[in-house]
Amino acid sequence: MNNLDGALLKDYRPVSELVTPAHRAAKPSCPVIDMHTHFGAKYRNEFFEKRYSAKTACAQLRQKGVCRAADLSIFSGSPYDRKKKKTKRIDHFLYRFAPIDFSSLGKKDFEQDIRRQFGQFDREQIFGIKIWKNLTLQMQVGGAHVFLADPRLSVIWEEAAARGWPVTVHAADPPAFFKEPDGSNERMEELLAMPKWCYAQDPALSFQGLMEQQERLLQENKKTVFIIAHMGSWPSNLRQVGRWMEQYPNMYVDTAACLSELGRQPYTSASFFEKHQDRILFGTDYFAGEGQCYEIWYRFLETKDEYFPHNPQNPSWGGRWNIYGIQLGKEVLEKVYYKNAAKILKLGRKGEWDGAGD
Ligand SMILES: [Zn+2]
Repeated sequence: MNNLDGALLKDYRPVSELVTPAHRAAKPSCPVIDMHTHFGAKYRNEFFEKRYSAKTACAQLRQKGVCRAADLSIFSGSPYDRKKKKTKRIDHFLYRFAPIDFSSLGKKDFEQDIRRQFGQFDREQIFGIKIWKNLTLQMQVGGAHVFLADPRLSVIWEEAAARGWPVTVHAADPPAFFKEPDGSNERMEELLAMPKWCYAQDPALSFQGLMEQQERLLQENKKTVFIIAHMGSWPSNLRQVGRWMEQYPNMYVDTAACLSELGRQPYTSASFFEKHQDRILFGTDYFAGEGQCYEIWYRFLETKDEYFPHNPQNPSWGGRWNIYGIQLGKEVLEKVYYKNAAKILKLGRKGEWDGAGD
């Protein structure tokens, strides 16, 4: 036995000896709209009200240069109603994306129920619809998984298109989450810590199958604008995401939770941002009351720093590797940080967006 036999991977926190320029990007170079945040429950039964103070969370984001945030609600019903109450004082700061209540899916009044829900949204001030991954990865109707291209769901895409509301879709998790969490899995540490994130045991769910459904959704609902969250669900294959972006003009992507993926492929990322600069939306997946990573995002997007941690607190979370900055040009940065968001949310009406942040 050598000394390595007793060493644990979880204790491995190497400190890089690389000496290259390192910048602190405390503020972004222009106003930022974070198109992917959560001010509500993370788990259905979470008492999230205790997690944060609305006023403080808003002040903290502003301090980081975020002038507005899209608040994506993942749970309908009581968590959604409670969230609206909780964020009432900062309504001016948030663009609310409403969740769909799927409880009548599979029953004959589903379509009517959806139209009723949209009627309710008309009375609220919402900016878009959020579809969370529980639809495709967890929910079962009549013992079968629900697929994005299921014709029963068409009514949702139609109603959203009729109102000009974008639909943010979280369709899948990283491909590694569909594989066995063994020593060859690049996300093994997270999957061992969070076994419910692993879908390898469910033969009815495959990453490829989810991607086929996602493509059909874009193809069959051309009038609906979709923001496919987490870089089109496939940040580790930007070539494929790029092909979809070219084929489907109704497809936008947000960058939420993709810092580690984008940062490990700086050349590929830089050309992707350059090429698709009009349909990429900055988003982080920030949860109010939890830590945030704006400075690391700004460092990635705005500097040429090399080999820095994407998650200093927890180096295995998001992948045990370091990242590289891509230093985007001013014009691309402005589009990604706020101009594309302003366009997709049709901002510009008085009081919604002053163009300069505040
Ligand atoms: Zn999210």
